[in-house]
Amino acid sequence: MIIGVPKESYPGERRVALVPVVVPTLTKAGFEVVVETGAGSDAGYPDTQYIEKGAKILPARADVFRQAEIILQLLCYGSNDVTGKADLPLMRRGQFLIGFLRPLGSVEVLRQIAATGVTSFAVELMPRSTRAQSMDALSSMATLCGYKAVLLAAVTLPKIFPMLTTAAGTITPTRVFVIGAGVAGLQAIATARRLGAVVSAYDMRPAAKEQVQSLGGRFVELPIEAKDAQDARGYGTAQDEDFYAKQRELLARAVAENDVVITTAVVPGKRAPVLITADMVKQMAPGSVIVDLAAERGGNCELTRAGEVISVDGITVIGRINLASQVPYHASQMYARNLTAFLTYLAKDGQLQVNASDEIVRETLLTSDGEIVNVRVREFFKLPALAGSSR
Ligand code: NAD
Repeated sequence: MIIGVPKESYPGERRVALVPVVVPTLTKAGFEVVVETGAGSDAGYPDTQYIEKGAKILPARADVFRQAEIILQLLCYGSNDVTGKADLPLMRRGQFLIGFLRPLGSVEVLRQIAATGVTSFAVELMPRSTRAQSMDALSSMATLCGYKAVLLAAVTLPKIFPMLTTAAGTITPTRVFVIGAGVAGLQAIATARRLGAVVSAYDMRPAAKEQVQSLGGRFVELPIEAKDAQDARGYGTAQDEDFYAKQRELLARAVAENDVVITTAVVPGKRAPVLITADMVKQMAPGSVIVDLAAERGGNCELTRAGEVISVDGITVIGRINLASQVPYHASQMYARNLTAFLTYLAKDGQLQVNASDEIVRETLLTSDGEIVNVRVREFFKLPALAGSSR
């Protein structure tokens, strides 16, 4: 089967879905690879490297879609709501599409994708099992977002992170507070620690405490308990507004005491909870920085504007989105390895096997034969169950 890699079209996107180093692995598994001209150049992978590894370069995007039986993208239509729609007419029945499709985003968009007949797999739906760990693109990107968030804070803050004892006196270390200690939050803790900051973190999932401590962070305990804080897949769950109000009240002191606050608290398919109000921001010292990694999902800070950096009374609120795209070389490498693991898992003699009794297939398969077929997605959008579908 032929795998096609179009150039990413979302404005400012620099990543690419496959990097040259994985091409031989795919060839060995029986695939051929075609890549749109310049697809990897913004990530540091020129066309010549793909050719050296055995891929073919095609100048026209439409030709990539025409020749390929499997299309690999980062931001497919669904997660690319700016330019992604232009790819719809290029897709066809029976073709495979694998990438970020925002499966709990807009049902209308999912219907449009389904209507092309394409068999799509949403990487966001990858189960959190040990078996699927090497295919978990969401975790790969979250890791890089956590890292980059700390660097953004470090270059914005009018302070340095580490403690220094110099002839000009002692400089106290920067204090960093991370709200939400999932994959991104844990990487933010590790990165801030490496830069010499004093780090504390909070998560409503009690299981996070040990992980925070193992990275050298102090776990901030709040005297409230979330109801069923964690779902069966390990994700944080949505809480009621009373809970969030109490959280804000209890978090106010920790927010005010820190120079940098990095927020990552999200719940799948829901707007991110507001955990920092405008009043709480006002209590921070001038020069403080908030990096809101939940910006795209509505933001954990009331003042966050998605995609923007704003300054209020000397405090900077960074709402930049798609941070993984700012480390495109390694983001592409990690993503390509996740997809290669997924493809080799699905493939038998160079053909993809869609075996619905396999958990990984069942959980990630989004559309097929003109329908939205994913049970979880159908339930989320309250669509009637399809005949013969089961969990
Ligand atoms: P996420 O991106 O969905 O959310 C980030 C964090 O925000 C979570 O830790 C969540 O508990 C927290 N959060 C949500 N609402 C909150 C609130 N109101 N207050 C405070 N915190 C709030 O989470 P994630 O990064 O995908 O990770 C979730 C868990 O899954 C982690 O424990 C992670 O280690 C685990 N995980 C396991 C695997 C695997 O086993 N293969 C893979 C990835 C992640």
